[in-house]
Amino acid sequence: MGTTLNVLALDEWIDVKEKPFLISGPCSAENRNQLINTGLALAKEGKVNVFRAGIWKPRTRPDGFEGVGEKGLQWLLELKKETGLKTCVEVATPEHIQLALKYEVDILWIGARTTVNPFSVQTLADTLKGIDISVMVKNPLHPDLKLWIGALERINNAGINKLAAIHRGFYTYDNKPFRNLPMWEIPIELKRIIPNLPVICDPSHISGKRELLAGVAQKALDLSMDGLMIESHINPEIALTDAEQQITPKNLSKLIDELVIRKEFGSVEFENLLEKLRFEMDQLDHELLTILSRRNEKTMQIGDYKKDNNITVLQIGRLRRMMQERLEFAKNLELDSAYVSKLLQQIHKESIRIQTNIMQE
Ligand code: PEP
Ligand code: MN
Repeated sequence: MGTTLNVLALDEWIDVKEKPFLISGPCSAENRNQLINTGLALAKEGKVNVFRAGIWKPRTRPDGFEGVGEKGLQWLLELKKETGLKTCVEVATPEHIQLALKYEVDILWIGARTTVNPFSVQTLADTLKGIDISVMVKNPLHPDLKLWIGALERINNAGINKLAAIHRGFYTYDNKPFRNLPMWEIPIELKRIIPNLPVICDPSHISGKRELLAGVAQKALDLSMDGLMIESHINPEIALTDAEQQITPKNLSKLIDELVIRKEFGSVEFENLLEKLRFEMDQLDHELLTILSRRNEKTMQIGDYKKDNNITVLQIGRLRRMMQERLEFAKNLELDSAYVSKLLQQIHKESIRIQTNIMQE
């Protein structure tokens, strides 16, 4: 799939001098004190380029906190005037866009639950025609790169060229240890297909919990993402939404200080092709090991289930069918059969070891 979008580089529409480019602020605007105090604390830390806040919250259940609406935009404007921070909110309807413009919001973002729906995205694109504003498009909830690109194209076709994508992870059948699986190969493929499109990573919605934020943020920078969106709240424990993943402005500052900003590959400084290839190999090995660890978790679940139901660890028939199926699959990927067969035997040996331990517990 070849795609060209008529978009500007990030530094053509926003100040990105300090690395990393950082968007931060609470998941939701809750009350004036919470919003202004979070904003002032972030401004004081001096690392944030753009202040975010959810004004209208898409909730799974109708009894959740649905956001404060228009009055939150007033607080945002107040904060912008006081600190000079640019502001950024999620919009899901034409009314949201009109109100955001009325209160001088600088950047609009389209949330994951909206990106999944081409009708909604097209309605927003139609509203944006002729308006000079920046837009960021979060990936859809499920791992569908074409749908994400389609949404970006709709917004771009409406004449928006200050455009960026936000990678916030994907909801799948098994997201552990994350809230949303990063599936890094998808944003990487997006960058390969549309090289000039800025891609920002949102470690907060990928992680779902504070402890995972730093690792995800570092990985995003190592993969040459153009910036980060991380939720911050003056008092995360009492946040009305996404409490477990928000961090204080001070802790955000610490997290950013501890990130290693590596040179970008592909740039003039990075001339050594061998280094680039080795770096890519490191990333692939990390993916491979992560998948092996997820496989072990599945093995444990199977082991527990067999134990509870008094079933033997080994079923020869299943093993034979499995090997055959995997070898066929590998053949289609042009992998050497002898090599794959040896590898599968090792992997299976580890499964048996884990399940035997479970049986003996
Ligand atoms: C958010 O940024 O608070 C949010 C609701 O994000 P997403 O659309 O990625 O779930
Ligand atoms: Mn959130």
